[in-house]
Amino acid sequence: MFSLQEAGRVADDRHQRTSLDPDDWQALRKQGHQMLDDMFDHLQTLAAKPVWQPAPSSGRALFDAPLPVEASDLEDVHAIFRDNILPYGSGNIHPGFMGWVQGGGTVTGMLAEMLAGGLNANLGGRDHMPIEVERQIIRWTRQIFSFPDTAGGIFLTGASQANFVAVQLARCRKLGVDVRATGLSDEARLVAYASREVHGCVPRAFEMSGIGSDQLRRIPVNSAGQIDIEALEQAILRDRQDGHRPFLVIGSAGTVNTGAVDDLAALRGIADRYDLHFHVDGALGALGILSEDLADLFAGIETCDSLAFDFHKWGQVPYDAGFLLVRDSEWQRQTFASEAAYLSRAATGLAGGDWWPCDYGPDLSRGFRALKTWFTLKTYGIKALGNAMNANCMLARDLARKVEREPALKLLSPVALNIVCFAYVGPDGKAPPAINADIVERLHAEGRVAPSLTHLNGQPAIRAAIVNHRTRQADIDALVQGILTLGSRQDLRQC
Ligand SMILES: *Cc1c(COP(=O)(O)O)cnc(C)c1O
Repeated sequence: MFSLQEAGRVADDRHQRTSLDPDDWQALRKQGHQMLDDMFDHLQTLAAKPVWQPAPSSGRALFDAPLPVEASDLEDVHAIFRDNILPYGSGNIHPGFMGWVQGGGTVTGMLAEMLAGGLNANLGGRDHMPIEVERQIIRWTRQIFSFPDTAGGIFLTGASQANFVAVQLARCRKLGVDVRATGLSDEARLVAYASREVHGCVPRAFEMSGIGSDQLRRIPVNSAGQIDIEALEQAILRDRQDGHRPFLVIGSAGTVNTGAVDDLAALRGIADRYDLHFHVDGALGALGILSEDLADLFAGIETCDSLAFDFHKWGQVPYDAGFLLVRDSEWQRQTFASEAAYLSRAATGLAGGDWWPCDYGPDLSRGFRALKTWFTLKTYGIKALGNAMNANCMLARDLARKVEREPALKLLSPVALNIVCFAYVGPDGKAPPAINADIVERLHAEGRVAPSLTHLNGQPAIRAAIVNHRTRQADIDALVQGILTLGSRQDLRQC
């Protein structure tokens, strides 16, 4: 028989064996501060390091290790991170990174991630302050995009999910909430419209929704890369004549290839005329509205019915932080809210609260993406964020001018925003187009700057997407110089 005292000790021992909290908080503090300091060092000295370098096979082999059964010291595990992961990232935080459209992140964002991790809040619902932070972001995004007070919104992983959710909202608006239970009937015959330059996640959203990507009509673009409004209207009329039901038009506020912004005001007009939901994919561009110098480009964005955009791209919030803003939050409720006994609501207490995000989107358990976004907006302010975006665009225009002045280079598309597509053509204009893929690969290997490769009208193009607030003139100069040097090397001509 145990005495009460002994029983208490046994319970304590058991607790110590099952809780994952440290025994020695003092040692943990020291280790934690070290990890933070290491990361500050890394960020402070970024520019002196390669934008990218291949990970050695010895390091990769460490991640083919047996499943850990017993414990390891945090210090030892952190050492593996420091030596084998940290130096071999994908480079998007580096000032020389221009490949693809990716955000650079910030120190504030990193710190906020740590706080959110410590709090480990679940933002599916209930009555707690983290929910209020997400609501604050909704109110701020309403203000940024001049949306009405009825507008709702929600954090999602990224614009891919936000575009998908928008398709679901539009479907419910057109067919009524019953479609949630009945599914699409053969008579539905829904069709939607976007330009040929629309991001690949949009047709995929149609595949996931069960509507099918063939039902997304891809409309030609004009010479500026914007959806051809006349061709759009013709397509709608044709579809209506053929007995289809147009329900949705999707504009791009910054196309992924070239950064073109569709004529959003004209799209609103079309949507009104043919009774369509008007969604905008603003993943990479929409936050440009924070810059006074760029805001005019997005005229009409305030009229859309839903807007997908990414705080984790131009907003510089650490991954992931996608957002969907919706003109009427009731559309979200009608598409997603459902009854469940284990999620019953109370008038007061922890199960209270009048806004449960799980009623407004597809996720139940949700992380605290709002905190890093709140910290970013609060500490830097929208003026500094807008200025950083405008500086990116000025660098892009400068790059375009350099390309146009340089006979060995050719600009392949007009520059509306922060993306420049061009090719190395050689001093005589006769270099084989395939040389551009080779140049990009070699630039990555050199590690000074990292553009990406795309294809425009079937032609390989070097693409510099300038999204990082750390990118400077010297990085643009290094890009141009690097391309000219590699291009002029005879051995590359053999390709
Ligand atoms: C990046 C991007 C997306 C996809 O967004 P994720 O956040 O990566 O899911 C969609 N559309 C455009 C125009 C993009 O640039």
